[in-house]
Amino acid sequence: MALRKITEYPEKVLAEVGQPVTEFDGKLADLCSDMFETMYEAEGVGLAAPQIGLNLRLFVMDCEGVKLIAANPEIIHTEGEQSGQEGCLSVGKVPAVVVRPMKATLRAQDENGEWFEREADGYAARAFMHETDHCNGKLFIDHLPKLRRDMVIKRFRKEKNWK
Ligand SMILES: [Zn+2]
Repeated sequence: MALRKITEYPEKVLAEVGQPVTEFDGKLADLCSDMFETMYEAEGVGLAAPQIGLNLRLFVMDCEGVKLIAANPEIIHTEGEQSGQEGCLSVGKVPAVVVRPMKATLRAQDENGEWFEREADGYAARAFMHETDHCNGKLFIDHLPKLRRDMVIKRFRKEKNWK
């Protein structure tokens, strides 16, 4: 296992629609192990492949008891609404309030290529949607009004310069 470098805004790969995962082999399993390790090290609850520089529809997460690998993820159902703080390892974890559905059903393939569906609510549902967005080249700040989006980016840049 190895730690991977986390890709940060505005690197291009974060804005690209990922390629589908087609090979469910040992290489994919190793990649997922690296992604979990990198996510835990960074104290995140989810990590998508574009966040380690790979143009691939793949994420891992471990959030409120929902631990899974999702290849080729889709959100097939949503319900309700929640408003809550969200942050992203690729944007320095600068928080912002994002309105999203309260419940979400994820459809994806596991590391063996088996399709599954999983329903979650609250923060875990938020993670499903945040990570699936990454696979579609979308960041959480893209859900914000322009002024708030600019503020998050400004704060991220500032904090980066301090390090
Ligand atoms: Zn993120």
